[in-house]
Amino acid sequence: MIDTGTGSTRNLKKSGYSVDELDAVVNTHRHPDHISDLVPIIQDKVVRSFSQEEPDLKLFGPEGYLEYLKDRMSHEMVESPSSISEFGFELGVNEIQKVQEMLQGVEMSSVEAVHGPDGFECLSLRFEARGKSVVFTGDTDYNSRLEEFAEDADILVTDCSCPAGESVEGHMNSRECARLASRAEVSHLVLSHLYPKAQQSDLQSEASEVFSGEITVAEDQKEIGF
Ligand SMILES: [Zn+2]
Ligand SMILES: [Zn+2]
Repeated sequence: MIDTGTGSTRNLKKSGYSVDELDAVVNTHRHPDHISDLVPIIQDKVVRSFSQEEPDLKLFGPEGYLEYLKDRMSHEMVESPSSISEFGFELGVNEIQKVQEMLQGVEMSSVEAVHGPDGFECLSLRFEARGKSVVFTGDTDYNSRLEEFAEDADILVTDCSCPAGESVEGHMNSRECARLASRAEVSHLVLSHLYPKAQQSDLQSEASEVFSGEITVAEDQKEIGF
């Protein structure tokens, strides 16, 4: 699962999946719309482990992730990532390396996004498995290193907070997302992270003026295949 924002566990369930099927969670950064459901997921797994065999959970996040998690778990669960192993449940917390194997056969790589003040790390992520690739920009301003990072991706999921012609610091608009997709020559562009004004705009048309590949405007529980 990539990012665990508010309501994501509910959407997971509505999509026909269960928290007990989760092997790994990756958080791009610690804004609430990306991480608020993380501790509820951990608690859910721990409670399930009392009555059933529960697969361990691997967590991945940017620098400072372990400290963040210790802090939050101590307040919300009165536990730490290591103390819950007493319940027979292993929680592996990893701060993301530049390139690493995330799960067997899934390679994850990262570059720093441009989002928030210094010391507030946010990552763009690329996943490769079975010859396919998916890139998530995370929350970020347009930056040219993403053009290389996202090169030839099968699916590019972008932070499209604004419609064309508007901007919010630390995010992109539909035209910038399309420019990135075009320069990186990806196959399929997904416009995600839509602020209210973006939701009221015809993002599909705006992006198609710049990018000629497939375009999808994201919705909760939408499934996209390769
Ligand atoms: Zn953010
Ligand atoms: Zn966000």
